[in-house]
Amino acid sequence: MKLSARLAAVAELVPRGSRVIDVGTDHGYLPVYLAEHGLADAIFASDVNRGPLNQARKSAVAAGVSDKITFTLADGLPETVSGEVDTVVIAGMGGETIAGIVERAPWLRERDALLVLQPQTKVQELWETLRANGYATFEVRLVKDAGRIYVIMLARSAASGAVNAPVLELLVKRRDELLGEYLDDMTARATRIRKSLLRTGDIEEARRYEAALNYYDGIRNMMGVGEKVTTVNDVFAAMNEYAPVETKLGFDNVGLLVGRGAAEVTRVLVALDVTSAVIAEAKELGAQVIVSHHPIIFTEKTVTDATINGRKLLALGEAGVAAICMHTNLDAAVGGVNDALACAAGLNSVTLLDEEGTWNGAPYSLGRIGILEQPATLAEYLPKLKLGLGAEGLRYYDAGRQVRKVGLVSGSGGDRFETAVRQGCDTFLSGDLKYDLFLDAAELGVNVIDGGHFCTENLVVPVVAKYLRERFAGVEVRISTVHTVVPSFYVG
Ligand SMILES: [Zn+2]
Repeated sequence: MKLSARLAAVAELVPRGSRVIDVGTDHGYLPVYLAEHGLADAIFASDVNRGPLNQARKSAVAAGVSDKITFTLADGLPETVSGEVDTVVIAGMGGETIAGIVERAPWLRERDALLVLQPQTKVQELWETLRANGYATFEVRLVKDAGRIYVIMLARSAASGAVNAPVLELLVKRRDELLGEYLDDMTARATRIRKSLLRTGDIEEARRYEAALNYYDGIRNMMGVGEKVTTVNDVFAAMNEYAPVETKLGFDNVGLLVGRGAAEVTRVLVALDVTSAVIAEAKELGAQVIVSHHPIIFTEKTVTDATINGRKLLALGEAGVAAICMHTNLDAAVGGVNDALACAAGLNSVTLLDEEGTWNGAPYSLGRIGILEQPATLAEYLPKLKLGLGAEGLRYYDAGRQVRKVGLVSGSGGDRFETAVRQGCDTFLSGDLKYDLFLDAAELGVNVIDGGHFCTENLVVPVVAKYLRERFAGVEVRISTVHTVVPSFYVG
């Protein structure tokens, strides 16, 4: 049995020769591991659900250790083991759930059991519940698994003489090597919450987070933990959280397309496209990475100065500027290009136009349907839309219908016109729309607006910049001032 870094760290904290129960054992990884390596004298595994418990049994049978583990179906800690165990592991649950399980089993404190707790959330709340219930948290460790930092707490009855101390204090004391990163995470979280509290006018609560931020700074100073260096990889990871690359269309090429992942980033330039002017701008600003929507590499087999794109790629490399390009995945993202377009178009009750696929159980789409709450004629709607898009002009077909249900696809979305019609949209908004589509629209009696490729997409640039500013407090994020819409309108 190979354990994840998180569970391996938990296993390491189970004293050798102990009599241990793993509560909420799920797949039984931990008990099987302990049994395989002879790390405990008695091993119990419990779960509230039959399915996971059966999984755990299967894991044990597969590993040939099923006779070494006692399986129990129980909600929380089964009373039946109260005389049998001296160590309790509860890992991978929310802090409140763990706190509830401990509270409902007072015999743990009476028997001075060792608690090895790994909450996924609400660390502070769990610590407070433990203290209120007569436990002392006497050791805390951090472990990093798949890019996320987890807290593991050791506690036992305060009557045993164990000395209770706050989580951060214990981490400082042991000079945990992940403390700097953990503080960064806490700082980012507190900064985010404080900002939203200030927006809603909850000044009192915002001050509490301000105090927490000062406290984190104090620890940093005391420990000599400097601001963590942000790398190109960090910026990419943040963008990937926002717009997972798995949700891109099949033809697309997205991600960190140019650059060194470990290079330090102090400045980011956000632009819709990586043009030569944008590259020069990044160089001028001293930005180490450009975050763009359109990919700089699609089909290149060579990078030479014989092609426009080859010259751009050479310029990036020569200037040491990386390029992170998030294209159809950013179109689809929640709060991505299409949502920015729906917002700029003054639409509400925004839903997906269709279902391109699912990611993490949620469907995603490259289009949206939005409702104009106060239906208007196209003639009334167009000036507002033009302003919202910052467009110089709009191509359109007026079918004489009220604008109410608008199907929209940012960029070049003509291929989804029929989907919008099928969904009962009276108006279709996209860019790069072809002559034939306008003819079809006239046949079908559907309003069509071509807002232009740039103007229906560039709306996302400030949204991305704002997101990156919130994620990286120490990084300066600029929006390109040189990249604007290229074609103009001449209206006689
Ligand atoms: Zn585009």
